[in-house]
Amino acid sequence: MSDHERLEQLLDRIDGRQYGAYRDLKGRWRLGGITLFVDHVQGDPFAAPTRVRLRTASDLDPGMHRDSDQRLAAEDWLLRRFGEGLFGASRGSGKSGRLYCYRPGPEVVERSGVRLLRDGDVEVRFSMGLPARGRRILGRQAWEMLTHDVPRAARRLEPDPSLEVQVRSVVAQRTLRRQLRDRGLVAFVADGAILPRASGIDPQPMANAVPFESPPSMRVTLETPSGEVSGMGLQGGTTLVVGGGFHGKSTLLQAIQRGHLDHVPGDGRERVVADPDTVKVRAEDGRRVRAVDISPFLGDLPGGRTTRPFDTEDASGSTSQAAAIVEAVEAGARVLLLDEDTSATNLLVRDERMRRLIPRDREPITPLVERVRQMHEQWGVSIVMVVGGVGDYLAVADRVIAMDHFQPREVTAEARALAPTRPSAPGPLPPIEDRVPLREGLRPDKVRAYDERRLRYGQGEVELSAVEQILDSAHAATIGEALRLLHEQLVNGRRTLRQVLDALDAILDDEGVEALSPWSHPTSDLVRPRRHEVAAALSRLRTLEVATSR
Ligand code: ADP
Ligand code: MG
Repeated sequence: MSDHERLEQLLDRIDGRQYGAYRDLKGRWRLGGITLFVDHVQGDPFAAPTRVRLRTASDLDPGMHRDSDQRLAAEDWLLRRFGEGLFGASRGSGKSGRLYCYRPGPEVVERSGVRLLRDGDVEVRFSMGLPARGRRILGRQAWEMLTHDVPRAARRLEPDPSLEVQVRSVVAQRTLRRQLRDRGLVAFVADGAILPRASGIDPQPMANAVPFESPPSMRVTLETPSGEVSGMGLQGGTTLVVGGGFHGKSTLLQAIQRGHLDHVPGDGRERVVADPDTVKVRAEDGRRVRAVDISPFLGDLPGGRTTRPFDTEDASGSTSQAAAIVEAVEAGARVLLLDEDTSATNLLVRDERMRRLIPRDREPITPLVERVRQMHEQWGVSIVMVVGGVGDYLAVADRVIAMDHFQPREVTAEARALAPTRPSAPGPLPPIEDRVPLREGLRPDKVRAYDERRLRYGQGEVELSAVEQILDSAHAATIGEALRLLHEQLVNGRRTLRQVLDALDAILDDEGVEALSPWSHPTSDLVRPRRHEVAAALSRLRTLEVATSR
């Protein structure tokens, strides 16, 4: 008997029976040109949906299966296509009778939703709410879903010219990004890029936006397989973005903040690229800080409290941002992005009058402005910073960009003339101390993301709203799974955070993001996290403990 007949018989037999009888669906079904693997069957209509993988021969150019850049671009394209094919395929109310797959935003990033396999097949991971009325099986509807709706979506996996467009675009973006370090650049914003979004909740490009145009003095031309691209090249060191309110400063920074990822063609930011280790840091009062040496920015606090290292359950604006900077560098950040809008002013600067009023020995804070040059020289960290109101940075910046009606102008020379003397640092920067996390504090227990801002991990919740480079709830959930993997990797009291992050990267490079599946089979919603976001989540765990003797 064919699988087709077997499936029909099964669904006929269990039609109208109690929901639990669906369990017999588990296993492999060869249905014409597609094979379905039902990996997990939900226990009732309200439980997490049934997990399925679909495998079929791919009609893509075999070259795309082999080249890792092309493969990533094609997998993303296929996932979007398949998702469009599922749309409107609901056969029931609520969760029952629906098909789900991951619906990506404008970023192209390694995900588990679709994979091109080495043997020339494509595998799609999705889930379905097996249809029910009350708790009774709707066998006929299940049959329609499995033999009609799913194959219809699978037919969308057929390549068309837009696939080629996307693959070329992603390959170009990756080629641009790989050139940055050799050229001494930390970011590149192509002429013609559309940076602003339609709204704060709509990631589509803004209609009728002013296209980006590089200041002539900062224009560089980079090569890609699809031709030369010219635009603004940001050199390492300290870059300031200045200008009046509402002139597009934060919008430029936000585009750079997503520049470690590729974007779909038409997004407007598909030729804005940044160093892969670019990390946004901001103030976040109320967060926990565990054993971070923030002495470069804050000396000992009133009451003899040490900052070397610093511990708190309830950080202030300045201590939270100082900790975020040190933690980012600990995890390997090479470029830090700061926006005055989301920074603690007293960490950024202290003005002349305040210096006179409060002498240095009464003020524990060494403002960042006195440290940025050392951070570049000693830690190898570049900074791109948006400032509207604080002029002190003009003296320490390697270059200054003024945004004026959404157009950048280089004003480095004018800035130098206004601020000729550099504030001096109070002493050398200490090296960053590697923390040694203890296993106990990372016990996973339950892992679940509510959305991109909040993760349930073990006994506690991790607040992630200040970790701005997390894309969505699936990304946050995958970060939770990465913490679970770090837990396995930690050999108590012996491996540093940096070492376990290296191990995580090596495992993900080797096995793909599927290494983070919470089950023995690959699931649909994994989004590859960077070490930076994983480290940021770990640092925010309320249960994190670190070895104290260092
Ligand atoms: P700033 O940080 O300088 O105060 P923002 O970057 O927040 O300014 O931008 C202010 C507004 O202008 C935002 O609503 C933004 O979407 C819009 N905007 C930014 N860049 C452009 C552009 N290139 N064309 C049109 N509107 C833009
Ligand atoms: Mg702003």
